[in-house]
Amino acid sequence: MARKHYDCLKCVAYCCSYAHIPVEKTDLKRLAKHFDVSIDKAEKRFTKRGDKDTPRVLKHTEDEHFVSSCMFLDKETRNCTIYDARPKICRDFPTQARCGYYEFLKFEREVQDDPEWVATTN
Ligand code: SF4
Ligand code: SF4
Repeated sequence: MARKHYDCLKCVAYCCSYAHIPVEKTDLKRLAKHFDVSIDKAEKRFTKRGDKDTPRVLKHTEDEHFVSSCMFLDKETRNCTIYDARPKICRDFPTQARCGYYEFLKFEREVQDDPEWVATTN
């Protein structure tokens, strides 16, 4: 894979604030195994209804930076708390060497001359 041009450790995890993070059957199985619960229980506990294309999506919780974010995002460290058991879409993102969110963040931090600057949607 090409060198990455983003650093998730310097980001507040914009990708985890996306409202529709799809959970497929294989993702549910992985989550169920990780938490040692049944697939049904994992579905009820960690997912909610999505739409026609993504019937089940990850539940969200409150977030100081965004309207909400994935229930598995640690709101202090901004890291994924289920990294090894995260859904496929989280594993695949971003699909290119650059992350659009990070490009935006980097640009704004340079313009504002503030390395900690964070754009919020709250
Ligand atoms: S938005 Fe991009 S840079 Fe930020 S955590 Fe997600 S993948 Fe990493
Ligand atoms: S499972 Fe982890 S990587 Fe995926 S959206 Fe939630 S916190 Fe982010």
